[in-house]
Amino acid sequence: MELLADIGGRPGIDCMGFCKYCYFKAVRDVPPFGCKHCLPITKGCHYCTESVKESYPGFKPVQMVVQELNQTIHLNQEGIERITISGGGDVSCYPDLELLTATLTQLEAPIHLGYTSGKGFNRGDEAEYYLENGVKEVSFTVFATDPLLRGEYMNEKHPEAALSNLETFCSGSEVYAASVLIPGVNDGDVLRQTCDDLEAMGAKGLILMRFANTTDQGLILNNAPIIPGVESHSIDEFAAIVDEMNKDYSIRITGTPLWDPETGAPFAIVNDPKALSMLPSPTMEATILTSRVSAPLLGSIFKSLDAPVNVIGVEKDIGCLITIEDIEKLDLTDVKSTVIFPGRAFVHDSEIKDVLNRDGGDRLVRRGPDKLTVDGEMSISMTRDEVIQREIEGLSELIDMVNMLGIPPKN
Ligand code: SF4
Repeated sequence: MELLADIGGRPGIDCMGFCKYCYFKAVRDVPPFGCKHCLPITKGCHYCTESVKESYPGFKPVQMVVQELNQTIHLNQEGIERITISGGGDVSCYPDLELLTATLTQLEAPIHLGYTSGKGFNRGDEAEYYLENGVKEVSFTVFATDPLLRGEYMNEKHPEAALSNLETFCSGSEVYAASVLIPGVNDGDVLRQTCDDLEAMGAKGLILMRFANTTDQGLILNNAPIIPGVESHSIDEFAAIVDEMNKDYSIRITGTPLWDPETGAPFAIVNDPKALSMLPSPTMEATILTSRVSAPLLGSIFKSLDAPVNVIGVEKDIGCLITIEDIEKLDLTDVKSTVIFPGRAFVHDSEIKDVLNRDGGDRLVRRGPDKLTVDGEMSISMTRDEVIQREIEGLSELIDMVNMLGIPPKN
């Protein structure tokens, strides 16, 4: 099993000040969304009111983190494959990170430092301690290897120290770097320089994250725009940048929400007739709601399966950030009598049912699987076969739901 050492912490506060592009900047109060964790009669649970905003009270004391881990270990008798240290703040700012790492290393499993920007390191040699104490993998928010840009955009006091630690981590562990790509700031020549540097340092890969600046791009916490006046790359522009960088550099470069040139994710299965033939045959009629990024890909899968299923993309780029407002905007004309929506969408089951029946219909509305594919953030450490396997599992579950809940086609 994989263990999570959740250290807590608040974005912006427990990471030495907000990065200019942080999605948790200026988060305002939003009514509960509703989600898959809510009780059927109550819209709003801890997950969709608090966790979605990563609103922890602060970093947890190290004793609490260890105690929570011990509970998990006692409840599960499986072997420990990996331990990830992560939280809402920046891992490098956790005051007891050295003590926690030294404690966890006794479990003799590889340790992964979950997203850290390195902003909490100020000497430049901190990485050595972690490498000596079992850290084998680091997810490092690099943004750019230009220290001035890091200083300006990441609100960082010691960018050289962070970059020096990045280099040390690269020399002794698997480093997956990440950059939120802001047009005109860290794309173009700056991105090329960053890729040159990461390649020279020996990073395993770079995950490019398309910057979201509007609600339909995924900012659901009433805090758009994050940077006024910035127009994000279009999905096509972004995918072209990922493609070009991956072609020009030896390190693996993927993008989120899409794309991964090496595995073909998301929905690599679209171009794999053999894998498509391993899916169950969808025989019943249903509508599948999804994000507008996934809709053409998912639609083409059901088309090649010759299924009586239509796929409708709502006005949101990410499926698990779909909210009830996106559903309210739908024209119901083409929505069939069975509807399946993304498992992790932020909607309450009874509310979406009402909205999808506001034309007087009696549609059966069900939450689908959590994941049908993987994005570049996950696929960067996967093989193409692993991606395809995940997709076969997710899509088979979806098709089984269609066949169980759908109605027979009319002709
Ligand atoms: S380090 Fe991450 S969580 Fe903290 S302000 Fe920057 S983007 Fe937000």
